[in-house]
Amino acid sequence: MHWSFAIAQEIMGKRKEKKHVVATGITPSGDIHVGNLREIIIGDAVHSALITRGVEAKLIYIADTFDPLRRRYSFLPQEYEAHVGKPLSEIPDPKGCHSSYADHYLQPFLDSLADLGIKMEIFRADGLYKSGMFVDVIREALSRKEELARIIEEVSGRKLPDEWSPFNPLCAVCGRITSAVVKGYDIGKENVYYECKCGNEGVASFKGGGKLAWRVDWAARWKILGVTIEPFGKDHASPGGSFDTGKRIAKEIYHYEAPYPIPFEHVLLKLQGEGMKVKVTAMSSSRGTNIPVHEILEAVPPEILKYALPRVRPEKHIEFNPSLPLLNLIDEYEREIGGIGGGAAGTIPFRHLITLVQIARSDFSHLLEIIKRSGYELHEENEAELKEIKKKARYAENWLRTYAPPSVKFELQLELPKEELKSLSDAQRNALKLLAQELQGGMTLSAEDWHNKIYEVASVTNTEAKEVFKAIYTVLLKKPSGPRAGWLLASLDPGFLMERFKAAEKW
Ligand SMILES: [Zn+2]
Ligand SMILES: [Zn+2]
Repeated sequence: MHWSFAIAQEIMGKRKEKKHVVATGITPSGDIHVGNLREIIIGDAVHSALITRGVEAKLIYIADTFDPLRRRYSFLPQEYEAHVGKPLSEIPDPKGCHSSYADHYLQPFLDSLADLGIKMEIFRADGLYKSGMFVDVIREALSRKEELARIIEEVSGRKLPDEWSPFNPLCAVCGRITSAVVKGYDIGKENVYYECKCGNEGVASFKGGGKLAWRVDWAARWKILGVTIEPFGKDHASPGGSFDTGKRIAKEIYHYEAPYPIPFEHVLLKLQGEGMKVKVTAMSSSRGTNIPVHEILEAVPPEILKYALPRVRPEKHIEFNPSLPLLNLIDEYEREIGGIGGGAAGTIPFRHLITLVQIARSDFSHLLEIIKRSGYELHEENEAELKEIKKKARYAENWLRTYAPPSVKFELQLELPKEELKSLSDAQRNALKLLAQELQGGMTLSAEDWHNKIYEVASVTNTEAKEVFKAIYTVLLKKPSGPRAGWLLASLDPGFLMERFKAAEKW
């Protein structure tokens, strides 16, 4: 049984609710990355499992757009120092293309979710506060401040400052949501009176004039949105951590049962360049060690992420290596689930396309020619089919440009690489001559025929096959290694190939 069904079953046995709300959420303070995506994927899997079991459930996503900018991250310009402490929804977009800082990072992620086919109800925290949905829970929190403080101190084991308030007013003058001290409040008028570090003394409305402190906010939103299930990073699940606090606040202050928790492990980014030490780090937006979801979706089709991420149980970490392991994963997917893309695109393995696009050098009509030459059936009059090929080829080109190790990259040499040829032995030259002979009279060979032919020629010339491979790569790519030789040779123009092998033999 898939872990999502095991969790769904446990929820159905343990919880009394007949209708479930699975909540996910992220603070859009920087690029939303593959590590963040894991939360959505887990929520989506459990949600689907519940639906499959006939349970009513919905999946929601809360973007913490009302959270303050914690510090000026390295990817932000110097002038953003002035925005530290302001809510992300109230800060201008650093790139100027969206209505706010929050939207700049949120929107590409929401677009990616659409690509991934994940449907959820989206909430923006600033919108929830501004709409007045938090008014009741704020009133409750302010009137029971002492109890709240006691719960937080008991669970977390740390002392709160005397001026602590469960409500953080948004200062009308400096725009910060982190600098004001609450001096009093009026339940009837739904106002909070504050003094800000900037010198301003003001009045903040319960309706959008500030937000609840994080641990209180979490518990309050469970009640407001009726959350019954929530996956979250394991850091929140530690004893005395925010979930433990939220659980007690929910029960004692809001008389609400905390959601069924699904703590999950991090996604680790594994980078391994050739001749470079393996580097494994937790994906982090603020430190820039991450791969944004919208970026990886330019290099791999969405079905690959939907295949890879839910395979690992939430309590196990995922090592995400966008280099060769990702290519191997695509291979595995195409072998076990099916070819990516409709029509002819689905018949060309992604790994093969990696070779073909490098020979075509971004020339689409050339690519089609190569595809046909390689033996794939292609209906060039069918525009939908060509579109699918173009799409898959774009993934291949983007993966090559962004994540491919040098060993996978090559450049077909249009000129004979004379200097490199000097290193070839007589046996290797002889092997090339025999290969050239195969092409006499306009003969063409399939990838498999080429593969067999290379072994045959190696045996005839009394050479090791790997030496023949090396000779082929040297005359064509000016390097001793390359993609599968059968694929490479079958995709090249036989006339060009014959000339090249002949020339190399003579040189
Ligand atoms: Zn923008
Ligand atoms: Zn201020």
